[in-house]
Amino acid sequence: MSEPLKVKERRNMYQCLSCKWMLVTRDDDDGVTPFAIQCRRCGKFAYSSFYDPPDFVAQGFVPVDAVWNKPNAQQYSALTPIEKEHVDKGGLLLYDMEGKPFPAHEVKQ
Ligand SMILES: [Zn+2]
Repeated sequence: MSEPLKVKERRNMYQCLSCKWMLVTRDDDDGVTPFAIQCRRCGKFAYSSFYDPPDFVAQGFVPVDAVWNKPNAQQYSALTPIEKEHVDKGGLLLYDMEGKPFPAHEVKQ
């Protein structure tokens, strides 16, 4: 048995049911992440694996594509009012591995 992962290391996976696009994410902060994001390939829904991704993802055999973070003060000031409200309610935002906002917005139903 291994130790449970700390929040900082929690991995998740989003997968599009239409085109099978896949995104591996890691949480670097405590907070809320959406259950679905927009698929970057076809624009439909990519669904969360609810922090129970396949073993090859959970054990780190594939690279992380993007990171869920609380924005720092500088990043926060650049957010839209809707994004600020999301963050104020405890939501995390998705950034690529260079710290730039990751363009996979939460899908509005
Ligand atoms: Zn897709």
